[in-house]
Amino acid sequence: MAAHGITGNKRKRIVRELRMRDGNYCQHCRKPFGKPLPSTIDHIHPWSMGGTNALSNLQLLCYPCNKKRDLWIRFVLPDSRAA
Ligand SMILES: [Zn+2]
Repeated sequence: MAAHGITGNKRKRIVRELRMRDGNYCQHCRKPFGKPLPSTIDHIHPWSMGGTNALSNLQLLCYPCNKKRDLWIRFVLPDSRAA
């Protein structure tokens, strides 16, 4: 879904760096990640609108928030940058 080209060891490294930068919790709802709430990599500037895999364009969201944001970007605000 939101893991365009980010897999395996690369994904692990990115997740570690994002956790060091932002903390081990969802950047949207602020719930801590753990077994019941796995982290997902989100593109701040959406991949579908030309966003890159640079760390500055990535953040960690929990799965429910990522899913919601995905739908929001796709159906509600197709032209604007999501917060
Ligand atoms: Zn969340």
